[in-house]
Amino acid sequence: MEETNKNIIKEQIITDIKSLKKQIEMLKDKAALTAPDCSRCDLERSEALLDAEIMNKILNESIARLARLEYALSQVDSPDFGICIECENDIPVERLKIRPESVRCVACENAK
Ligand SMILES: [Zn+2]
Repeated sequence: MEETNKNIIKEQIITDIKSLKKQIEMLKDKAALTAPDCSRCDLERSEALLDAEIMNKILNESIARLARLEYALSQVDSPDFGICIECENDIPVERLKIRPESVRCVACENAK
């Protein structure tokens, strides 16, 4: 991979990690606020539970993506970075710029 592209992707990973960490903190705060409150009426409680469920789902996905991004950052200088773990072809740089945590090319990702 070209050094310029690698640097762009590295920057992208760092930016994504920063915004994800912010998002995770925000979601944690919100999840704490909407924790079921027994003094509310049932309708409000079920709505709050639904919100909390959705928020927890987003929170878990964000935490999982953060782990993948941190792994990508630790691998970005390795010669194997950007190589598909399935077919060992190069993952297109354009794909890595959008999803730097990708470990598969589009074809292998779809065939999964
Ligand atoms: Zn592949």
